[in-house]
Amino acid sequence: MSKLSNGIIYKIKKIMALSRCKVHENPQGRNGNEYVTNVEPINFPDTSSICGRNNCNNPGLIWLTKEEKKNYDDDKMRIFNFPNSATKVKVK
Ligand SMILES: [Zn+2]
Repeated sequence: MSKLSNGIIYKIKKIMALSRCKVHENPQGRNGNEYVTNVEPINFPDTSSICGRNNCNNPGLIWLTKEEKKNYDDDKMRIFNFPNSATKVKVK
């Protein structure tokens, strides 16, 4: 486990959230990631988090893996990584 400067604790193992709109829900993750729930990004639906599917510009919900959900519930983790390091997303 590691602690960021803002006090949020996260695990080094890469756990990867996905952004998907309500049309493209229940994403099937690569690398064996299984998405178990979704949470709303800050300011949803007027959010900068847009569905990651091709040709879709709908606002995206943030789908979490089982481990991410545990962090969300137990550790109050609110910032999640996407599968590349271009950006992260903050949820409610
Ligand atoms: Zn979509």
